[in-house]
Amino acid sequence: MMDIPSADHASRLAVDLRSDTVTRPTPEMLARMLTAELGDDGLEGDPTVGALEAGAASMLGKEASLFVPSCTMANLLAVLAQAPRHEQLVLESSAHMYTSERGAATLTGVFYLGVPGQGGAMDTGVLQETLAGGGHKLRSALVAMETSHNNAGGTVLPLDHMRSVSDLARQYGAAVHLDGARLCNAAVALDVPPSEIARHADTVSLCLSKGLSAPVGAVLAGTRALVARARVLRRMVGGTQRQAGVVAAAGLVAIDAMRARLAEDHARARNLSAALNALGGPLLASEPQTNIVQVDVRATGRDSAFWVAALEGAGLRVRPWGAQRLRCVTHRHIDDASIDQAVAAFDAVARSLSRAAAGQP
Ligand SMILES: *Cc1c(COP(=O)(O)O)cnc(C)c1O
Repeated sequence: MMDIPSADHASRLAVDLRSDTVTRPTPEMLARMLTAELGDDGLEGDPTVGALEAGAASMLGKEASLFVPSCTMANLLAVLAQAPRHEQLVLESSAHMYTSERGAATLTGVFYLGVPGQGGAMDTGVLQETLAGGGHKLRSALVAMETSHNNAGGTVLPLDHMRSVSDLARQYGAAVHLDGARLCNAAVALDVPPSEIARHADTVSLCLSKGLSAPVGAVLAGTRALVARARVLRRMVGGTQRQAGVVAAAGLVAIDAMRARLAEDHARARNLSAALNALGGPLLASEPQTNIVQVDVRATGRDSAFWVAALEGAGLRVRPWGAQRLRCVTHRHIDDASIDQAVAAFDAVARSLSRAAAGQP
């Protein structure tokens, strides 16, 4: 049989640090998908989806969970299930649910209110004032946290912060949702089981298709009653899937076998950051707590769009994170040699910039 290179063959030869979402299913996932027992998840239920939902609930220490196509949908259902229209959702102002998902307000009728934070952790003083409300202010029905925190550079919320937020929410009658798209990265970084983090929230979402490498899917976990409500709402937004066991089979491998290796991604992110800072040039790399490194390019005199294009030319793919920063995410397809290649690409672009500045060819 002829080996036909795929259309993106060249781009797949590059080191791809754009996101951990680029991870492909593992051979074990593909094998489980082929032999998965199937049903109709919109009728009697799909047994493989059922097994994933039970496994994820148990891992997260919740009564039940619901398989959904994406973590965005898991977060949307958490809002729909817990916040009535014209009430508000309070969250840290750089949270993914705020910066990237608050268009959901057009569906939910819930107002999203951002609270300033440090390292992804809300200022609890401002949170308390907000929740106390009063006068003619909107009632806060829901508080959301995020860990690890994407825009804060993969930072992990301290557990005592999570407890304080959860206590405050309870005190003012608000429910708590945790956007745990990368919850397993946070658990590995804190060296605790995921349930130790999830216990500080009523509902928790978890993305199966980031570092955990499943091709698609996420779960929303909580009490049996809440998950039953979310199941009805999932049908309303078109998230009910039929022989979904084909992909849930990969999700089962994701939660059973893919968590422990995330520590490798974190170690490589630390190596990448240290090597970039050791170049001694104008690049400033963040010190990662998990698998995300942000690289500040401000002092290079070029913006993130320039750097993304120049690095791509040097065989490295990263994403712009604002005008002056890049985001690099380590994952299963990044080995030690990839980190060396990434550092070499940054070095090559930085050197060409300093030669240009010195008027040398
Ligand atoms: C990626 C991400 C999401 C959305 O996940 P999808 O599965 O891509 O919809 C939500 N929250 C955070 C923090 C994320 O990083």
